[in-house]
Amino acid sequence: MSVKKLLLISYIIAGLLISIFTAFMTFYIIDVPIGMKMFSKIVMTIIFTLPLIGIVSYLIGSYFSKKFIGIKNRLFQIANEDFTLYNREEHIGEIVDIHQTLNSVAMQLDKSINELKEKNRELTWMVHSFAHDFRTPLTIIQGNIEAIEDDLISQEELPTVLKKMELETNYMNELLSDVLCFIQSMKSVVKKEDIQLKEFIDREIFALITPPKRVALINLINENGTIAFTKTDLKKILINLVGNSIKFTEQGSITIELQNGALVVQDTGIGIKSVECEKIFQPFYTVDASKNRLKSGFGLGLAIAKNLAQKNDYLLECDTAYKNGCKILLQKENYEHIDS
Ligand code: ADP
Repeated sequence: MSVKKLLLISYIIAGLLISIFTAFMTFYIIDVPIGMKMFSKIVMTIIFTLPLIGIVSYLIGSYFSKKFIGIKNRLFQIANEDFTLYNREEHIGEIVDIHQTLNSVAMQLDKSINELKEKNRELTWMVHSFAHDFRTPLTIIQGNIEAIEDDLISQEELPTVLKKMELETNYMNELLSDVLCFIQSMKSVVKKEDIQLKEFIDREIFALITPPKRVALINLINENGTIAFTKTDLKKILINLVGNSIKFTEQGSITIELQNGALVVQDTGIGIKSVECEKIFQPFYTVDASKNRLKSGFGLGLAIAKNLAQKNDYLLECDTAYKNGCKILLQKENYEHIDS
């Protein structure tokens, strides 16, 4: 039953009861016996009053019904992903509350749906890249096996072909272990502890890395520099950043220091164009895709590092203004300063 019908029926019944009750009470109070003539007058009055009650209840019913239809339409819009906000003035407090609640539901849904769409795009891109990277070595190995089966490879060529196949197998192995690392980096096991940065970088990072002859590793953190972070995560992030710097720096230095509360790794290498700065953190993104496939990485290193940073409430960003090489900053999500 519609609100309009419900109000119409209930107002008419209420009107009828009230008028009968009032009429009889009036005769009771003034103490006059109700004769046939009086009774017919009462009935006539009621019959004339009823259409009036009907009109009033119809108008009130229509007003309320409009309000409910408005709410129904908004729910329908939201169900169809139309998240337009409603800011019209309303006179009934409850209706204002309902529209405000619907506004916040619409905003939340809009945000969540956009995030899901973005994640879905990332996931599709990842699966495509993974399938592409995996299919290339498989096709090469398959082609070589067929060539051997068809006696197209001579005895002299065989060791070279087998070596090639071995390299491709290693490539697939490395790809799989990088993908597993990436998946692992999304799990949120966080065991933060206060890390003395200077000592940590000397012992756990620089000690494991042999730089090229003309590149110096410089640790500029002072003795008091600390960071609250999961140790294994910080180690993976810094090994990745310094490892990248080594790959792209022929001469000069790779420096780690604290700048305005951010932990910074910067080098004097080929650098990154500002347009690439955000993209390099996407999984499977490599700046020069035309490079030798077997020598370059899969583009997962920085994506893993970014996930590990996020797990620890930090952001990993590339400084677009730095022009002497590459500068990557690890800083707190709300940019609080690291104690130094
Ligand atoms: P990978 O795991 O293949 O090394 P990364 O995710 O670590 O990939 O890096 C993505 C891309 O960012 C690399 O292909 C490289 O072009 C660029 N890059 C990362 N670090 C540096 C750096 N220090 N200097 C110049 N380019 C860099």
